[in-house]
Amino acid sequence: MTPVEVQIESRNGAQAPSGWCCPECGALTERGEWRARSCVCPACGHHARIGARDRIAQLADPGSFSEEWSHLRTLDPLQFVDLEAYPERTRTAQAATGLTEAIVAGRARIENVACVLAVMDFGFMGGSMGSVVGERFFRAAEAAVADRVPLVAVCSSGGARMQEGVLSLMQMAKTTLAVDMLNETRTPYVAVLVDPCTGGVVASFATLADICVAEPGARLYFSGPRVIKETTREELPDGFSSAERNMALGHLDAVVPRAELRGRLASYLRLLKGGARDDESGQVGDAWWGATDVGRRVVGETRRAALRARRRVGGARRLVEKAARRAQEMVSPPGGEPQ
Ligand SMILES: [Zn+2]
Repeated sequence: MTPVEVQIESRNGAQAPSGWCCPECGALTERGEWRARSCVCPACGHHARIGARDRIAQLADPGSFSEEWSHLRTLDPLQFVDLEAYPERTRTAQAATGLTEAIVAGRARIENVACVLAVMDFGFMGGSMGSVVGERFFRAAEAAVADRVPLVAVCSSGGARMQEGVLSLMQMAKTTLAVDMLNETRTPYVAVLVDPCTGGVVASFATLADICVAEPGARLYFSGPRVIKETTREELPDGFSSAERNMALGHLDAVVPRAELRGRLASYLRLLKGGARDDESGQVGDAWWGATDVGRRVVGETRRAALRARRRVGGARRLVEKAARRAQEMVSPPGGEPQ
């Protein structure tokens, strides 16, 4: 749903200040108030789409975000032309959004916890995932591993970028490998799914995070309702694909209103650090979970539990052997013929 800018003329002909008209409930909100409410309708709670820069401003500590990998630019390997040539389309998107690609990534801090933050922008060619989106996400993951800080990704996408054909589809495998690398190095990864998050992005890195949250009302699906309906010829349930329904089905860990998102992310990051207090640098370093007191206790407990389990298995085996010997003795007592 696209926000609509409206001008209201008052009865005496004077121009009223412009406002934001909610596409859900039609309520008109003064633009300054609407922005102060993080672009959420005060009447019905509809979360309007926001660009990557606004999102970063809402989530990262002021002045803490430093963009990286912005020099990566898309090529035109297939020399793809639809109504326009691909390079022309990219230039138009760049001019419209002020971004170089559909994802903006860099180092940041959220409530003083250092992290790598990657934010997609649906306004840039529908947030489609081409080679540059895949590469920037991969580098963001590598930076999180190198810095020993968590990765936070805000995902919004129409899916693969058709202008890059199979190279675009390959980004699903590539970003999945990036998440694998995070898992292997025990680097936490939190994904925030915002409206709309679909196609190849929802089928790869958006839903592979350790913690997956979404904004209220966000539409999350692989194929759109129309495609599914045409394929299956069945009526879809009410609220199909909504964040709330995905939550009820167990696909999400939480649905978090935008106003609470920053605080919630910060508490997740602190929790994943094992509850350790932030040090001066905000770097995780030795305070990382697994190395914290809490982490050490968890690891120690797990080892002790494994030892206990092994001992129990050994004990059980000895009991079984003893029972088998007794059974054998009852059948043929030692030193005598069966009775
Ligand atoms: Zn509304």
